Amino acid sequence: MAPGINKILIRNCQYLITQPGSIDGIIEDGAIYIEGSKIVAVGKSPNIEAQYAQAAGIDILDAHEKVVMPGLVDAHNHVGEVHTLLVEGWLDSPIEGIVDAMDRIYWPAYNWLTEQSTYDLTLFGLVNVLKHGATTHTDAMIFPDAIYQASVDAKARTVIYPQMITSVHLPDARDGQEYLTHTEAAIRNYHNTGDGMIHVGVHPNALFNNAENMLLSSMELARKYGVQFVTHIAEAPDEMDRHNEVFYKGGVIQYLRDLHLLGTQTVLFHGTLLKKHEIDILAETGTALVHCPPTNAWFGYCAYLPYMLKVGLQVGLGTDCVTHNLFNVMLSVLQHHNIMPRELRGVDPVKIFELATLGGARVLGMQDMIGSLEPGKRADIITLNLANNTSLFPLSPQVFYSMLTLNGAGSEACDVLIDGVFVRRNSEFTFLDESAILARAHQWCDKFAFDYHKMTQAHQPMFQRVHEEFQLGTRRPI
Ligand SMILES: [Zn+2]
Repeated sequence: MAPGINKILIRNCQYLITQPGSIDGIIEDGAIYIEGSKIVAVGKSPNIEAQYAQAAGIDILDAHEKVVMPGLVDAHNHVGEVHTLLVEGWLDSPIEGIVDAMDRIYWPAYNWLTEQSTYDLTLFGLVNVLKHGATTHTDAMIFPDAIYQASVDAKARTVIYPQMITSVHLPDARDGQEYLTHTEAAIRNYHNTGDGMIHVGVHPNALFNNAENMLLSSMELARKYGVQFVTHIAEAPDEMDRHNEVFYKGGVIQYLRDLHLLGTQTVLFHGTLLKKHEIDILAETGTALVHCPPTNAWFGYCAYLPYMLKVGLQVGLGTDCVTHNLFNVMLSVLQHHNIMPRELRGVDPVKIFELATLGGARVLGMQDMIGSLEPGKRADIITLNLANNTSLFPLSPQVFYSMLTLNGAGSEACDVLIDGVFVRRNSEFTFLDESAILARAHQWCDKFAFDYHKMTQAHQPMFQRVHEEFQLGTRRPI
């Protein structure tokens, strides 16, 4: 063992969840021993303590009233966009769908961003991500250099998806070519850096706001570097109505298949309005999907998750909103799929927890590194405090998964380790200055509000449109 390497023992764990998706994977009175960034041993506390507790310089955390479990994997989020949440309150009519939401909320708010505001707002988002136990998250935003710096500074395991859009002009790139160039630079500079802490994927935002040649070039870039190709799909009816007009009769998934944009490198967000035969195609091609029921509910629809799981589609869970958290998402999955008027209903809470951990890890291609607590895997671990906890009571292995998915909503993680480093301990951040980060986010939100209203009153456009959405002229014939 190298001298000076950090050694951590988490002992007396009331419940140690080693293998998500299995009641057998819960160890009562468990312990876990970590060296450097990796888990070395997992087992019953007396055995692990006997072997490792005397190691020189060891840092011991007693977890006698705690659940100790794998960090959650938030497979879809937009971490630096908290200011967008203000805009809905300023609109003079309700949002009608995702295309409408992009035009009236997201593009004006994104266009206002700068490198510095993106960095500060991303740090704000990371405080929420980490506080609620997501040790791995993906971040689909603009200004990838700012996302990278904030993620490194917060020591967060991050997949950066620099969003590319050709239908409107945003402040971090002038056109499609510049987007591709800066995504390629982000891949070369940041992908698989920090010993696997940072990954980068290629992300045309959606089919309706990127030209067909941009989609093809994006996949070409993803293949060149062996990184993921990700995009939003089938999220709301306004988008689907136009898809049905624009794309040839096979529908939007067949369209993607014909362009060779599906496969094991591809991850789709939402898929809320996909039909069974389209889900079949995703499963056949090995395409993965991230399910985000709380934000999908905004538009009144929910992906057909029970069928997706039945046909073996690879699924992870995402918050899709920086102020949401995965505990709330797990509750949404439990509730939405019990009340959906469909042939297949309900998702087992054991499975829901698996989707929030190992499922997300598989979607991101990181299942050998994270998602469960096993020797050799990275020490991405969270604890929940059971002392005076009236939500997770009375807990036992038999009810653990159902209680966590039903009653865990809003839970904050007491301790958070990422790659063997405590970023949070005893419900406090260890090195992030939470108050200062929140104060800066407040200042940016105040400035955004001032600028937004000033521009609205002056009838100044909030962003510049380059092409109509759905870019009809660039598509192949219906
Ligand atoms: Zn999204």
